[in-house]
Amino acid sequence: MEIIQKERGSISNANVGWIELVKQLKINSFSKIFILTDSNTKIDCLPYFLSKVNFKQQPELLEMHSGEQNKNISTCIELWTTLSEKGADRNSLLINLGGGVVTDLGGFIASTFRRGIEFINIPTTLLAMVDASVGGKNGIDLGNLKNQIGIIRNPLLVLIDIEFLKTLPQAELTSGYAEMLKHGLIYSEEYWNELKQFSAANMNEVNQLIWASVKIKNEVVTEDPLEKGRRKTLNYGHTLGHAIESYCLSSEEKKTLLHGEAIAIGMILATYISTILCNFPKQKLEAVTSTFLKHFQKEFFTKKDIESIIDLLKYDKKNSHGEINFVLLENFGKHRVNCHVENQLIYEAFNYYDNY
Ligand code: NAD
Ligand code: ZN
Repeated sequence: MEIIQKERGSISNANVGWIELVKQLKINSFSKIFILTDSNTKIDCLPYFLSKVNFKQQPELLEMHSGEQNKNISTCIELWTTLSEKGADRNSLLINLGGGVVTDLGGFIASTFRRGIEFINIPTTLLAMVDASVGGKNGIDLGNLKNQIGIIRNPLLVLIDIEFLKTLPQAELTSGYAEMLKHGLIYSEEYWNELKQFSAANMNEVNQLIWASVKIKNEVVTEDPLEKGRRKTLNYGHTLGHAIESYCLSSEEKKTLLHGEAIAIGMILATYISTILCNFPKQKLEAVTSTFLKHFQKEFFTKKDIESIIDLLKYDKKNSHGEINFVLLENFGKHRVNCHVENQLIYEAFNYYDNY
């Protein structure tokens, strides 16, 4: 029974969540209720959701095509238009039922429709539970540039129910696990060690670990909502991870990587770099690398691949004044932000990864 109570953006787990949703939030007091799903969550998650909530009025269903390629302004225009046609007013509620694409885009359309209506996030992927749905960042992509347009605004409630994970493909589950491992790295060695017990076969354990990760993410974003300092640590492994993700997406020879798969590589590289620049203990680097490689398949990068990946770093959202900024670690839970890393050291890190 857990709930993180906040003025906006309370986060609750399933036990109290469903009761909270109906009673405390007076869900039935909204003028109209809309539920946004994507094409998959409509089939896999909506029936369970509808079985948990007793709506006094029939909610209206909104649907978007699944996938990052649809997290764009065209989808928003379609959904704003449908909201308007279906009579949504300032007192309407939007419930986002889906992964990070649905919660990011749904949060954005709710925050902009009629200058902002209320919304609730019900994340259905592991990544959305431990990361995307917490922290108030909502947004869409602009062409190939991720999350360029958006707004920071918390939902009324984030409701986490691991029941949804039962239909999630294994690769998506592992991708979300990468973000949890990141929480271990940036928060504490103790949590990192606990995370080794993560296994889809033991959902009770998983529930507790997810909740621990949610608390870490919540603590970080509450302390630094506008990413001036500590929130930057959530980008651990993401500087190179994003570049690897974009490179694999655009290259014909490379397999497209899920976000978690790309940042898992990014975290190995960042941890190697941390041993050189911040004295992160070498024996712990070995433990970090072997843990990631137990769950994530190794990819191979040629010199030309690495050159292109380094080239992509200039588009990283964390750059300021033309400098590429890395988050590095002195140890588990001891970070340094805004670190400068020479290209030569990035090659060396790839070399370490390739030869591991
Ligand atoms: P996603 O939303 O695309 O979901 C992955 C796939 O799983 C989709 O095909 C989806 O339809 C399907 N799916 C979702 N739930 C399911 C379920 N329970 N059963 C079966 N299939 C299901 O991807 P994601 O990994 O959840 O989220 C990625 C997005 O999150 C990216 O756009 C990223 O930018 C964003 N993100 C945002 C933040 C933030 O702070 N706002 C943080 C991290 C990531
Ligand atoms: Zn991430």
